[in-house]
Amino acid sequence: MKLVINSLCKTYPNGVQAIKDVSLTLNNGMFGLLGPNGAGKSSLMRTIATLQEADSGSVFLDDLDVLKHKTEVRQLLGYLPQEFGVYPKISAERMLDHIAQLKGIENAGERKDLVNSLLDNVNLSKDKKKHLGTYSGGMKQRFGIAQALIGNPKLIIVDEPTAGLDPAERNRFYNLLSQLGENTIVILSTHIVEDVSTLCSNFAIICMGEVLYAGEPDTAVHEMEGKIYSKSITKAELGHYQDDFTVISTQLKTGKLHIRILQETDPGNGFVPAAPNLEDVYFSNIATRVDVNTI
Ligand code: ADP
Repeated sequence: MKLVINSLCKTYPNGVQAIKDVSLTLNNGMFGLLGPNGAGKSSLMRTIATLQEADSGSVFLDDLDVLKHKTEVRQLLGYLPQEFGVYPKISAERMLDHIAQLKGIENAGERKDLVNSLLDNVNLSKDKKKHLGTYSGGMKQRFGIAQALIGNPKLIIVDEPTAGLDPAERNRFYNLLSQLGENTIVILSTHIVEDVSTLCSNFAIICMGEVLYAGEPDTAVHEMEGKIYSKSITKAELGHYQDDFTVISTQLKTGKLHIRILQETDPGNGFVPAAPNLEDVYFSNIATRVDVNTI
């Protein structure tokens, strides 16, 4: 499967240009869409999920015109939106059965087997009789993935799935997502760099509606080799360093401020070379658009 997005644009009636000429090609596997809040990730996801119209451009899933043939796309799609309401007084088991029925699985026995195997997959079997209203954030997200998987989707879209999960819940969710990717396209939108470095074989950085980078995380990090330098300074010195260098991240540790800068050549001045990571890639791209200290 291949998803090809070409010159996609969307401006909301209030004048916000949420998607600006976005072109991306996605193959099977996990694709991370990384960007700060307000970057346009949800707008792009909702458009691909056929939930809102684009102004111009195209999206093709193999030969299928996604923007035109919405019903066909929906049959191939699993979607976990950023926020989804659950009916609090219904059990996970009954809700999944109901969704499976809506998705056209008419045989009750077949539905029962499917629901049980999905619940097992997302590790909710022992809680399947509990009302959804009693579920924790992580359990709700896993339930959300189970419902998105009904009907063997070829394209799975998960929008900010790890926001609000505690570290253990996030780990469980990572494990679940990493099992999906092989024969499907999974698009994962996130503002958390670790989500991409842990899970994704390809990714794009999006900011203010534009794609700033697209490629493989390892390659992106490799390209930063020899360009990242770090130094400990006092808080009062920060302004001065920001005037002279491209400061891409700052971290306060035991009273000292550790800064990382992007620099083609050795800046001297007490800076030491640092091994690059995906956060450096992210912040150095974003730094060209927004003040990284505000992210
Ligand atoms: P992200 O998912 O990366 O946080 P969004 O796609 O939600 O970004 O938002 C991109 C921009 O579009 C933001 O400036 C947001 O305020 C604006 N926006 C999102 N949805 C709407 C809408 N329905 N009407 C008007 N503006 C919107």
